[in-house]
Amino acid sequence: MFIPEKLQDEMSEWRRDIHAHPELGFQEKRTSELVAARLESFGVEVHRGIGKTGVVGVLKSGTSGRSVGLRADMDALPIQEANTFGHRSRHDGVMHACGHDGHTAMLLGAAQHLARTRHFDGTVHLIFQPAEEGIGGAKAMVDDGLFRRFPCESLFGMHNRPGMALGRFAVRSGPMMAGGAFFDIAITGKGVHGARPEAGIDPVLVASHITTALQSIVSRNARPADTVVVSVTQIHAGDAYNVIPETAVLSGTVRCFSKESMKLVEDRMRLIAEGVAAGFGATASLDFRALFPPLVNHADETDFIADCAAEVVGPENVNRNGPLTMASEDFSIMLNNVPGAYIQIGNGDQPGGCEVHNPGYDFNDGALPYGASLFARLVERRLARMTAD
Ligand SMILES: [Zn+2]
Ligand SMILES: [Zn+2]
Repeated sequence: MFIPEKLQDEMSEWRRDIHAHPELGFQEKRTSELVAARLESFGVEVHRGIGKTGVVGVLKSGTSGRSVGLRADMDALPIQEANTFGHRSRHDGVMHACGHDGHTAMLLGAAQHLARTRHFDGTVHLIFQPAEEGIGGAKAMVDDGLFRRFPCESLFGMHNRPGMALGRFAVRSGPMMAGGAFFDIAITGKGVHGARPEAGIDPVLVASHITTALQSIVSRNARPADTVVVSVTQIHAGDAYNVIPETAVLSGTVRCFSKESMKLVEDRMRLIAEGVAAGFGATASLDFRALFPPLVNHADETDFIADCAAEVVGPENVNRNGPLTMASEDFSIMLNNVPGAYIQIGNGDQPGGCEVHNPGYDFNDGALPYGASLFARLVERRLARMTAD
């Protein structure tokens, strides 16, 4: 471990304080103020309001012009917490069910350690991002000039993984987490009495055929070696037993690992929706919204973060061929701007351990020293190594 024991207790305190006061995306006022105040108390230069409620800390040491970025997310989820422990959420209907309280505390811990020891030569940008949970915090920071104002030669982030043992890390080079899109297909037929189908155009039947036909995208259009999910998750139509409605709406989500796959799904979805609808004399229009690009780790930075993790926990505890996951993560937007890598950190594999986004979830304080050590080690090695080049 690269951080002192005393810091572990402090990180747990910060983590529990943040857990007890969760805030939704772009509403992280208390959280970002807590982060900013802590950073200032460590002697870190603080910039507030980057991407609305985002905070960036700038920590310099030595004379090198080189730089590295570390990122944590700060937002909570609209979930009613089921836990009863002392640090449970004080805010009704909001909880830290994804462990962003832990991510924030780990990065604060690394900041404090680096500010004290300054065993590096260059600039660290400590990026505390708002609104990771599907509402565009990474994009807001990038659009706000994050990497123009705080240039980073490389960038690193991490997420806890329930079910993986404490003191273990997993990473993989290339695509690691899926890109995600939401879609709506609006179908217009011709409303008519339920007993006189010959006089109308039934959008419910059209929606059913489109739903079935969409499943051919994965089985017949995507390359079998590529991983793609197309899920229709909502069908809305009609209000009465004896009325064939005028319109129907299909909605759902798409997950895949490349821009090409996402484009293929969008194109095929449009063709199928419009073509099937036309065959029935109806019309369909697709609204396809790609929300997150796939998260793609850069090869050199992946090797580097895995090497640093091996220094913290031993090579036997670092899985360099970690699993692909169909979940999405908007750190992918930052990685499209700056080379870097995202790693998973074990949240514990105890029986009854809880998945993220569940009302019984809690970040494991035991993971804090591993994460903070890795963040600190990344800086010390990256900026030391760069200077020696
Ligand atoms: Zn989440
Ligand atoms: Zn998360």
